[in-house]
Amino acid sequence: MAKYSHIESALIHGGIYGDPLTGAVNVPIYQTSTYEQQALGQNKGWEYSRTGNPTRAALEALIAELEHGAAGFAFASGMAALTAVLSLFSQGDKILISQNVYGGTFRVLDKVFKNFGLSYSIEDTANAETLADKITPEVKAILIETPANPLLTVTDIKAVADLTKARGIKLIADNTFMTPYLQNPIDFGADIVVHSATKYLGGHSDLVAGLAVVKEKELGEKIAFIQNATGGVLGPFDSFLLIRGIKTLGVRMDRHAQNAERAALYLKSHPAVKRVYYPGLEDAQGYAVNKRQAKNGGAMISFELTEKYDVARFFSSLRLIALAESLGGVESLACHPATMTHASFPEKIRQEIGITDGLIRLSVGIENIEDLLADLEQAIERSGE
Ligand SMILES: *Cc1c(COP(=O)(O)O)cnc(C)c1O
Repeated sequence: MAKYSHIESALIHGGIYGDPLTGAVNVPIYQTSTYEQQALGQNKGWEYSRTGNPTRAALEALIAELEHGAAGFAFASGMAALTAVLSLFSQGDKILISQNVYGGTFRVLDKVFKNFGLSYSIEDTANAETLADKITPEVKAILIETPANPLLTVTDIKAVADLTKARGIKLIADNTFMTPYLQNPIDFGADIVVHSATKYLGGHSDLVAGLAVVKEKELGEKIAFIQNATGGVLGPFDSFLLIRGIKTLGVRMDRHAQNAERAALYLKSHPAVKRVYYPGLEDAQGYAVNKRQAKNGGAMISFELTEKYDVARFFSSLRLIALAESLGGVESLACHPATMTHASFPEKIRQEIGITDGLIRLSVGIENIEDLLADLEQAIERSGE
């Protein structure tokens, strides 16, 4: 019989558990760059820590298990993970990306990969019918985020996977917002899952890391080659911290989502609020699709205040919730996508995809919900004075 069959246990016991040498319940931090070899051509499976490190390997085995993939890879940041994945493609290839993907994903395609002849276009991946027509022969992959940042647009993973499978191209899913606790894109047909582990997986706003998981071994061999060749690997100490963070992912996500649901309902009923974006609200875009592919609506909310309220004043009036980039930590954060996370989008594209100057994004933390609602209440009140 298997030792466990539920993700809550896999978060704690998955991958490579503990240390066989000493019985330590935690994987040690192998703070080493190299490994002594027994003789020419003989070693204990480790040669150099860019290629492989036991602490990183434990993390990589863990994320592969959690995302139901064949292999996992740990990188120095989410962008390093995405860069490694995009390095699978060649000059002349094209990638389709979801509208309102993470600003850095757009930037690396627009300002780095474009120079190497890899092109991209921004598409409404939530609409599988119109998306099908965009898959021209040079398109080699579709990169989706669901829910996408910052309007929480839901894409039907299976509907897009049906398209990519039929055309023999790859589906890449950035699962940062949901985490493997709430959503497993590989189960719905994704070929590669990417995470900014800086966010919920780490969970404590104390590290920057990225992960990639592949569905099939063959693609894993290609990414392992790129990881070693380009070298954006995660260090042993941060690998340890990330394993530590992942152990509590389940309890954190339950509370995050519970708080977010309350906050979304509160904002929705507030007369100062024009619009709320949260995939856990029954009248939200993609509510039914999200319900099918994810455990709940997650813990990211965006909203707009009516014109009478001053957004800058709202941010400066917050007392408990911090004005900051990033998301997914235990503490609640608020940000202004138009000038922060999505500033790398040209104004015209930003307007087209609905990232208005009045948009506020909340990463709902795990504090007491009454304290969070009280902070929102007083900040909204002040912003209307
Ligand atoms: C933060 C983020 C990234 C980039 O990850 P870093 O760890 O900051 O490099 C990519 N995708 C999404 C959805 C993110 O939120």
